[in-house]
Amino acid sequence: MRIILLGSPGAGKGTLADEIVRKYPGAHISTGDIFRENVKNGTPLGLEARKYMDSGALVPDSVVLAMMQGRLEQDDCREGFILDGFPRTVPQATALDSMLEELGVKLDAVVLLEAGEETVVRRLSGRRVCRKCGAIYNLYFRPSSRGDICEKCGGELYQRDDDREEVVRSRLEVYNTQTAPLIDYYSAGRALVRISSERDDGVSPLEELECALGLVE
Ligand code: AMP
Repeated sequence: MRIILLGSPGAGKGTLADEIVRKYPGAHISTGDIFRENVKNGTPLGLEARKYMDSGALVPDSVVLAMMQGRLEQDDCREGFILDGFPRTVPQATALDSMLEELGVKLDAVVLLEAGEETVVRRLSGRRVCRKCGAIYNLYFRPSSRGDICEKCGGELYQRDDDREEVVRSRLEVYNTQTAPLIDYYSAGRALVRISSERDDGVSPLEELECALGLVE
């Protein structure tokens, strides 16, 4: 499958992308994860990206596009890819159109994962990550029974810099002004699939997506 996942920070794109690639062939490409890996390793790309990420701003299009150049041609994308966090601006979307045309492939769907603003603020500002094993907890929805210690490995839990509430609010503002216009961009002439990430009837986002794409009855 070749899918773009749109949605605000905290809508659940990363979780849904992981679930899709566990069940269907294809690569999960998260530009946020690629930047964080580069920040962790102190690469020139990471040092550049960090200037923007810590305050919740977008990394400039030129940097993102240079990083994505050639990525979709790699072997792991041959059977499909789930784009999580890219494109995030209209210029990135038009550049992606050209990349797909050059590759001679078409998207199967553009999926908009939706969640209310207060839900995403709690999901992100409550998120805590284990420094040692990377396990993810949430102060509101899934607290560790050991407080700020990881239940699995005893590591220390910390809050990502960009998950601080004031940064979360500014990431949402950035989403509303710079990324939300992509909803119109992808609605014109293509099927935009809207999925809720906060249904309370037991239907998961993956099940809703599979239904919308006709993959299950
Ligand atoms: P994410 O984990 O997707 O929320 O991304 C974390 C941060 O990485 C964002 O707040 C941006 O600073 C940066 N980032 C990730 N993807 C992009 C993108 N496509 N364009 C610009 N900045 C990005």
